[in-house]
Amino acid sequence: MSIWTRRDTHEVEVGGIKVGGGNPVVIQSMTNTDTADVEGTVSQVTELWEAGSELVRVTVNNAASAQAVPEIVDRLRDRGVGAPIVGDFHYNGHLLLAEHLECARALCKYRINPGNVGAKRRDENFQKIIRIALEHGKPVRIGVNWGSLDQNLLTELMDRNAARPDPKDAKAVLRDAIVESALRSAELAEETGLPSDRIILSAKVSEVPELISVYRQLAPRSRYPLHLGLTEAGMGTKGIVGTASALSVLLIEGIGDTIRVSLTPRPGGDRTEEVRVAQQILQSLQIRSFEPQVISCPGCGRTTSTFFQEMAEEIQSYIREQMPAWREAYSGVEELEVAVMGCVVNGPGESKHANIGISLPGTFEEPKAPVYVDGEHFTTLKGDGLVAEFKGILTDYIRRRYGGGEVPSENAPARTSP
Ligand code: SF4
Repeated sequence: MSIWTRRDTHEVEVGGIKVGGGNPVVIQSMTNTDTADVEGTVSQVTELWEAGSELVRVTVNNAASAQAVPEIVDRLRDRGVGAPIVGDFHYNGHLLLAEHLECARALCKYRINPGNVGAKRRDENFQKIIRIALEHGKPVRIGVNWGSLDQNLLTELMDRNAARPDPKDAKAVLRDAIVESALRSAELAEETGLPSDRIILSAKVSEVPELISVYRQLAPRSRYPLHLGLTEAGMGTKGIVGTASALSVLLIEGIGDTIRVSLTPRPGGDRTEEVRVAQQILQSLQIRSFEPQVISCPGCGRTTSTFFQEMAEEIQSYIREQMPAWREAYSGVEELEVAVMGCVVNGPGESKHANIGISLPGTFEEPKAPVYVDGEHFTTLKGDGLVAEFKGILTDYIRRRYGGGEVPSENAPARTSP
């Protein structure tokens, strides 16, 4: 459904999920459990997958984590959870993968941070991981992060810059180093034998303008699919707005084949929020659809009671509750738009733009609520049963439009005059 032209890339398959090559932008997430805690990790991967994460990454930072990975994958498959599991490696990835072959086999992709594979034996360690990926037929993500950038490379570029007659500013050199680190590492991976269609790149920073600049610089220099994310985005509104701002600019420019939203959850908070935010970014940009959208106005002095807000919330909750069943039964329902509007000023107009909409009476307006279906006035509701009646009309509309059949006449809502 995307209206934006996507950058041309190789297609990389990760455990059956296709990334790049014109395939839908893939949503991914990462657990924050101790990977050695099999029970906890299986449970969180299940939650993330059920929320819509199509790939899930786990950290593999020690022998206990590496040993746990095959059991985690087995238990997930026993539960019917198909999410491909990606291993995140730093410092000792070359050792862990070599020593734990079952882990190397069970993972669907290895993430390598080229800044964290050792200073003196950087290339050697990096190539060890690439050879293991080759041996097991796995793709890799070369994930550069400015918090752990290869310092030798940065020094090299800083020195070269200082010798220029017109030196760039330090941030520009840092961006160059991030991009060079990703591309040189990909070149080394290919020289080691890994095909180009088994490589995904990322180059993450935590500042929105810098992230946009880095990816704009990186994107035209290769055909590797790009993983997007604002690293260390932060908590709550700050993390969500920062991520949405950065990713939206890039996605509109056709840059980005898989995304991750790196929110810091509150202690004990819901890890799946990052998946819902990622889905909402893609749906807001009309790149992919995940669930019907409720369009509601912010309310103002014309809506002095809370009824309109309560109704908007109730319709949103009703849709969320019904979606698992609707998704199965009604193909395309995720593209539905429902308007719940607070008064006559914009209510009828916005309702007519949506598939189905209701315009509630504002303060001092006549207590009646016209309902519009496919741009036409359908009926007018009033009284205590208004919310239930609107849900009925909504459900019947979905059955008719996405179910491929007519609603039995005794159940069909009656169309009335205003
Ligand atoms: S539609 Fe009506 S209630 Fe809603 S913000 Fe506009 S004027 Fe206010």
